Amino acid sequence: MLRTVVGNFCSRFSRLSYPIQASRFSAAAIPAPNPQQDVQYNKIFINNEWHDAISKKTFPTVNPSTGEVICQVAEGDKADVDKAVKAAQEAFKLGSPWRRMDASDRGVLLNRLADLIERDRTYLATLETLDNGKPYTISYAVDLELVVKCLRYYAGWADKWHGKTIPIDGDYFCYTRHEPVGVCGQIIPWNFPLLMQAWKLGPALATGNVVVMKVAEQTPLTALHVASLIKEAGFPPGVVNIVPGMGPTAGAAIASHMKVDKVAFTGSTEVGHLIQQAAGSSNLKKVTLELGGKSPNIILSDADLDWAVQQSHFALFFNQGQCCCAGSRTYVQESVYSEFLERSVERAKDRIVGNPFDFKTEQGPQVDEEQFKKILGYINTGKKEGAKLLCGGGAAADRGYFIQPTVFGDVKDDMTIAREEIFGPVMQILKFKSIEEVVERANDSKYGLAASIFTTDIDKANYISQALRAGTVWINCYDVFGAQAPFGGYKASGNGRELGEYGLEAYTEIKTVTTKIPQKNS
Ligand code: NAD
Ligand code: MG
Repeated sequence: MLRTVVGNFCSRFSRLSYPIQASRFSAAAIPAPNPQQDVQYNKIFINNEWHDAISKKTFPTVNPSTGEVICQVAEGDKADVDKAVKAAQEAFKLGSPWRRMDASDRGVLLNRLADLIERDRTYLATLETLDNGKPYTISYAVDLELVVKCLRYYAGWADKWHGKTIPIDGDYFCYTRHEPVGVCGQIIPWNFPLLMQAWKLGPALATGNVVVMKVAEQTPLTALHVASLIKEAGFPPGVVNIVPGMGPTAGAAIASHMKVDKVAFTGSTEVGHLIQQAAGSSNLKKVTLELGGKSPNIILSDADLDWAVQQSHFALFFNQGQCCCAGSRTYVQESVYSEFLERSVERAKDRIVGNPFDFKTEQGPQVDEEQFKKILGYINTGKKEGAKLLCGGGAAADRGYFIQPTVFGDVKDDMTIAREEIFGPVMQILKFKSIEEVVERANDSKYGLAASIFTTDIDKANYISQALRAGTVWINCYDVFGAQAPFGGYKASGNGRELGEYGLEAYTEIKTVTTKIPQKNS
């Protein structure tokens, strides 16, 4: 769990403002990375085999710390997606090894996959940091920890997600079966490449589906290594197929495919619209969406201010600010506003930005040049629209995509930086007077992914948490995730929920079976 693992860093490195919990990881327990290691897999994974793109095209994947190309990767498009869907359909045929496999054995395979990921944990964490730029200590102790726990959690569900017997009127035996949806298209982003892969594979495979996954073009490498482990674990060919490629080609081909039964997408709200439209204009495939956010983080005047400052910093800056649920509208009650502002700026100035393989680093580069430029653009807009730039505001190095931790004060609700998702290390602090006012302002957003409240008054916490229109509310904490608890958005932040028992629903068709019971003398 994020809180368990991240917490350890906090106690070890007091400067890291993550939720404090005991953890089995101390810094000394994290093995050294080897950034020079070879990349072993860079092709398309279909039927448990490696394929070049049918077009023979490749694309470069870049190390965002340096801007240098790590390697070329096969660039799948519609033709490769078609091939992957055929393989998946074959694997899903009635009587196939996967369809005949005992549910408990699907759980065994998922646990075996988790074991193999643990075996290769140092390699995978290093590769994740190389390709994405996030600090290696976080890749190892947070991302990989959550990946393994997610797969094990869903391994446990494989033989426990069952239907009901139903007392309908008449002489009938009525029951429901929870059946797999079929071919699931899964399109994932670059901010948590391995974790988003696990969130998608866990529930899909536990419930017996087959998968065609498109990984993000910025960060394809770790998912392909996991593909090799899927084969090693013993999943039958065609159950999981992974196609690296671009969104408008490979991604769009999945969303509009007539033989894909369901699509699960995580990424921008903008593309979320396109996915839902493509489903509507093709075969009405089922759609689940995990999209953007502009999550309010509310600090009441009675909050423990030290903790609130630390947690608000974490809420925004964690993962280079590249979190869909980042606490990116920090609302502070007026009597503590000035002090909060001052301390938040101090903390941001203190944040260590640099080489993500250095164990002291808190913040690595943004994922790519496009995001880097977009974020700098938002900072300029913030200045132009009259927000007060209190620290940061520019690039943090002369190469790579590093951005200074940036804090804006005196932000107004109608400013662009208070309404749009920046997805970078840029904090917006806004002032409020009353609880009624802040609830209304917090809800005045097209998004509704997450929210948080810092207060020592349980009544206020309960009042505000029920009033907020968001899929997750954290009270006196932030970014506490567990595979057991559902996550997803209200409004334009998405459709459906991932994780937990609720996360199984999107991967299941419910079949009602009714049998006539013959009655004596009838
Ligand atoms: P994106 O939505 O374009 O990319 C996410 C995934 O969707 C990638 O795999 C991409 O290739 C794919 N995709 C893109 N266009 C597609 C299409 N037409 N059809 C099907 N799939 C398509 O996100 P981005 O361009 O990488 O980032 C832009 C913004 O999105 C960010 O600044 C951030 O605000 C947001 N974002 C949110 C999340 C999240 O976790 N919710 C993750 C990444 C980015
Ligand atoms: Mg894009």
